[in-house]
Amino acid sequence: MSANCIFCKIVKGDIPAKIVHQDEDCIVFQDINPSAPVHLLMIPRHHVVSMQEVGAEDHGWLGRMMAKVPAIALENGCNPGPNGGFRIVTNSGHDGGQEVHHLHFHILGGKRPWKGSMAAIA
Ligand code: 5GP
Ligand code: ZN
Repeated sequence: MSANCIFCKIVKGDIPAKIVHQDEDCIVFQDINPSAPVHLLMIPRHHVVSMQEVGAEDHGWLGRMMAKVPAIALENGCNPGPNGGFRIVTNSGHDGGQEVHHLHFHILGGKRPWKGSMAAIA
């Protein structure tokens, strides 16, 4: 845990979030400023700054998290099949445009066009 990290505070329950999934590795909640009809944030329970900090020793929890994305996306409104789908985005570091420095995966879906920065690379 990192004392001043807003996402650690969400993990601890110190600030509210619309949590849609939680397990031993991660929690998933709705982005406060959605860029798409479905805009979730998936974060590890423990404090990891970004993908810049990740190495081979992290394959367990990181792999389990990624493997859960399709089901969580479908359960939360992403459309099924090849005409549906979703986008996973993770911004890392200053050059990556990261604003919250606790690793998070944006899960974006729903009918396009989307708005905001996550749509800029659409
Ligand atoms: P980044 O730019 O770091 O990749 O994305 C940070 C994301 O966190 C943004 O999409 C922003 O809307 C979201 N966010 C920032 N603060 C909060 C918060 O307190 N609650 C929730 N649910 N989302 C937040
Ligand atoms: Zn944190």
